[in-house]
Amino acid sequence: MQDQFGRTIEYLRLSVTDRCNLRCRYCMPEAGVAELSHADILRYEELLRVVAAACRLGIRKVRVTGGEPLVRRGIVKFIAQLAALPEKPEITLTTNGLLLAEHAEALKTAGLSRVNVSLDTLRPQRFEELTRRAGLEQVLAGIAAAEKAGLLPIKLNVIPFADFNDDEILDFARLTLEHPWDIRFIEFMPISSDLDYASRDGLPMGQVEARLQTLGNLEAISRQENSGPAIMYRLSGAKGRIGLIPSVSGHFCGECNRLRLMADGRVRGCLFDNQETDLKQVLRDGSDDHALEQVLLTAACAKPEKHLINDKDFATPSRRMHGIGG
Ligand code: SAM
Ligand code: SF4
Repeated sequence: MQDQFGRTIEYLRLSVTDRCNLRCRYCMPEAGVAELSHADILRYEELLRVVAAACRLGIRKVRVTGGEPLVRRGIVKFIAQLAALPEKPEITLTTNGLLLAEHAEALKTAGLSRVNVSLDTLRPQRFEELTRRAGLEQVLAGIAAAEKAGLLPIKLNVIPFADFNDDEILDFARLTLEHPWDIRFIEFMPISSDLDYASRDGLPMGQVEARLQTLGNLEAISRQENSGPAIMYRLSGAKGRIGLIPSVSGHFCGECNRLRLMADGRVRGCLFDNQETDLKQVLRDGSDDHALEQVLLTAACAKPEKHLINDKDFATPSRRMHGIGG
């Protein structure tokens, strides 16, 4: 599947729900989200049909996300169905980790390759302040369970905020000395300007890198295939790696290989672009798989050349991050 700018689209981010068991202040309002009716959200059979069509068109990697994907009932069986598709796509998961301990073994057996766990602080009180819920211990148990189950390499996603958790950057980085984990610092993106964090609060990756340099011996790792947009480093002698993802200040659009399918059956070509293609009709009006593939190709074609977040006229997207899937 190619877009109109010659980019090959082979990565699908699949948001299976917009609901969540946390309320991270930068992502979701305290009240949570209005429940979508059953008719509004795609059934697993429908999601599977879309992913099967996307794989026939060249998707090779599917990341299951949300909201919190592990809160949707039946998710393990669904992941097994994804992993069993004839093209054998790589299936990965992004989770807040709260329910990971209870599902890690079953997810591995289902065919999940690995997990990314989002964790912005290692301090219990701060965790509760940020997510409006207790649960750091549960997340750490989830990470341990994922490691034991062989969902490797473990990747931790951290968003550093000025004057909130930036004093933990070095603590996170030091985790790589003992653990073979990827700690990935990700730039905060201006998605929902009405929530508790604004773009000025997110720390640019240049500043994160400067702090990491104070640890000494930060070795750059050359870019590998599938490393995505992260710029990777290793502290000398460390078991794990450190990644920097300058989502806002970097310019990855030329290499973007993604489509995003959301739980309500809409496809986005770009996180920051409100143009969406609705698949629900073609899924529910008796159309065949060829028609579905044609709509997916149209969605890929509609992918914009680049995002406009750094433009002065940029308007925040019409959906929040828990709805798009990150
Ligand atoms: N609930 C799961 C989790 O937190 O990992 C999956 C969905 S969550 C929307 C996916 C990722 O988006 C998380 O790593 C979260 O930190 C990130 N995220 C949410 N809002 C963001 C923002 N404004 N800028 C950058 N990343 C954001
Ligand atoms: Fe939930 Fe993930 Fe958003 Fe936090 S970042 S509120 S865990 S969807």
